[in-house]
Amino acid sequence: MGIAFPTPDEAVLARRTEILDGLSRLVAREALIVTEDERRAFETDGLTAYRQMPLAVVLPSTTAEVSAIMRFCHENGVKVVARGAGTSLAGGAIPQADAIVLGVAKMNRVLEVDFANRYARVEAGITNLGISQAVAHEGFFYAPDPSSQLACTIAGNIAMNSGGAHCLKYGVTTNNLLGVTLVMLDGTVASIGGDHLDSAGYDLLGLVTGSEGQLGIVTEATVRILRAAEGARPALFGFARVEDAGACTAAIIGAGIIPVALEYMDKPAIQICEAFAHAGYPLDVEAMLIVEVEGSDAEIDDMLRRIVAIAEPFHPTTIRVSQSEAESAAIWKGRKSAFGATGRVADYICMDGTIPTGQLPHVLKRIGEIASSYGLGVANVFHAGDGNLHPLVMFDTNKPGEMEKAEAVGEEILKLCVEVGGCLTGEHGVGIEKRDLMTYQFNAVDLAQQMRVRGVFDPLWLLNPAKVFPLDGRLVA
Ligand SMILES: Cc1cc2nc3c(=O)[nH]c(=O)nc-3n(C[C@H](O)[C@H](O)[C@H](O)COP(=O)(O)OP(=O)(O)OC[C@H]3O[C@@H](n4cnc5c(N)ncnc54)[C@H](O)[C@@H]3O)c2cc1C
Repeated sequence: MGIAFPTPDEAVLARRTEILDGLSRLVAREALIVTEDERRAFETDGLTAYRQMPLAVVLPSTTAEVSAIMRFCHENGVKVVARGAGTSLAGGAIPQADAIVLGVAKMNRVLEVDFANRYARVEAGITNLGISQAVAHEGFFYAPDPSSQLACTIAGNIAMNSGGAHCLKYGVTTNNLLGVTLVMLDGTVASIGGDHLDSAGYDLLGLVTGSEGQLGIVTEATVRILRAAEGARPALFGFARVEDAGACTAAIIGAGIIPVALEYMDKPAIQICEAFAHAGYPLDVEAMLIVEVEGSDAEIDDMLRRIVAIAEPFHPTTIRVSQSEAESAAIWKGRKSAFGATGRVADYICMDGTIPTGQLPHVLKRIGEIASSYGLGVANVFHAGDGNLHPLVMFDTNKPGEMEKAEAVGEEILKLCVEVGGCLTGEHGVGIEKRDLMTYQFNAVDLAQQMRVRGVFDPLWLLNPAKVFPLDGRLVA
C-alpha cells in the first residue's frame, strides 16, 4: 500500500527561478510564496499522512490574475494544483514537487445577493459558512453544510461536490449551484450556467462540479440560497444493537419520510464525541441516530411522532427529543466535531463511500469484522439517510506498519461499498486517496472515456494531474 507521487519533471525543477520570475510579474509581491518555510503551510491538506512541497504558491486576488497565471503556466508547461482552504480529506489539494499551488483564499467577497430570485454570487474563496452568514439577516441560508464549513471554501465544495448532514433534504453542492466563472488552462475565462436553474445546452455545470480542479479554476460561483424553515428539532434514538440502528434508518427512508438530517454514530464515535463536546449523548448504547426534522411546531411534532412509530419495532433503548435551542446546538456540536474529536484519541483515516441504505446492517457488521481482522479499531459516524459512510479507521503512526494496515482496511471497506451496489466516493472526492481504487468502480472503457473528457479541457494534463485517475491512466487514455 502507500500512495505514490509521480516522478517530478526535472526540466521544470531546473527552470524554477525563471518560473518564479515570470509569476512575480503577474501578481503583487506578497501574493507569491517562494520560501521553504512559507511553502510548508501548503504541502499537505486534510490527508496529512501525505505531503509534497510545491514549486511555489500563488494567491491571486482577481479573475484577471488567475487568467494571467493560467496562461503563463500553459505556455511554460507548469502544473497547477488549485487550492481553497486545504481541508480535503482525499488529498485533493496536495501539491506535486513540479507544480505551483494556485490558492483562491484571498478571493472571498460576496459580489451580489438577490433575495427575490434566491441566489448569491460570491468569489470562490469565501467559506461555506460565510455564504450563510452573508444572507442570514434576511432569514436565508446556503444549504450544503460540510462539518468543515467554518474553513472550507465554496471552490473546494464545488470541486469535490461536497455534502453535509443537512443534504438529505436539500441535496449536495451540485443541487445548489447555479453558475460558475471558470478560468481555463489557456487563460480563457468562461461563464457556465447563470443565476437560475437549468441553463440551455450541455450540463457543463454538472461536469465542473466534482471535477477536482482538473478542468479549470473556479473564481466565482452563483449559488441558490433558501429561506430557513420556521423551526427545526433533532431527536436522538439509541439502540442496543448496531444492526437495529441500520435497519431503522432503512425503514425511515423506506417509509418515504425525508428528515432534514439522519446521522448515525456507533459506540466508539458516541464516546469519543461525548468526551469532547459534552453533547448529552447516551453512553450505554451500541449505536445512535440523530434525526432532525423541520417546519412549524405542529409539522415537527407530527413528523417526529411518525418517526418514533417507525423506530419502535427496532427496540430503541433511548428516545430523546431536543427541548431547547441549546440542547439542539449541543447535539450538533457533538456530531460536527467528530473528526476533530477522533483526532484527539488516535491517528485515523476517514473513508468515504456510499451504499444503498438497505445494505446498512450488513455493511456495518462487515466493517467491524474487517477492522478487527487487522487488529484496528473503527468509529462509524456518517450521513445514514443517504447511505454515505464515514468509517474512521484508527491507528497509531508510531507503531510500524499500522498506517499501512489502516489503508488496507479502508481499501477493503471501499471495495465492499462497490460490491453492495454503492460507490467509492460519497462527498470527499477521489483525490490521491482513492485514485488507484478507481478500477474497482470503473472498467478500462469507462475510465478512458472520463479521461478523454478531461483531456478536452486539459490536453497537456497540467491541472491537478496526479489525482482521480490511476497514475498510469494517461497511458490508458
Ligand atoms: C474536519 C473535517 C470535516 C469535513 N466534513 C466534511 C463534510 O461533512 N462533508 C464533505 O463533503 N466534506 C467534508 N470534509 C472535506 C472537505 O472539507 C471538503 O472536501 C471541502 O469541500 C474542501 O474544501 P477546501 O476549500 O478545503 O478545498 P481544498 O481542500 O483546498 O481543495 C479540494 C479540491 O478542490 C480543488 N479546488 C480548490 N479550489 C479550486 C478552484 N478554485 N477551482 C477548481 N478546483 C479547486 C482542489 O484542487 C482539490 O482537488 C471535511 C474535512 C475536514 C477536515
